[in-house]
Amino acid sequence: MTTQARKTARALADLAGDVPTPDALLDWRNSLHYQRHAPCVLCRRPTPPRSHAGEAAHKTCAEVWIAAHPDESRSGRFVSDRRAASTTDNHA
Ligand SMILES: [Zn+2]
Repeated sequence: MTTQARKTARALADLAGDVPTPDALLDWRNSLHYQRHAPCVLCRRPTPPRSHAGEAAHKTCAEVWIAAHPDESRSGRFVSDRRAASTTDNHA
């Protein structure tokens, strides 16, 4: 793994937030998710997105997986981006 790839992997891991409820969508808005095409771990078709753990996965495949595996999904395999501090409503 290159230094840059390691930095990207660490930044993505730091971005990990909560597991969405099974009826909600994943928030993978950060550009760090989008990398070189690699086979999706769920459907094997090429896809740019990476999960916070670095698994190549279509966002829709991950959302279907969460809905199909409600117990397993609580382990945090696929999570949404952590909300930035500026989006919380704890300001005066
Ligand atoms: Zn897929």
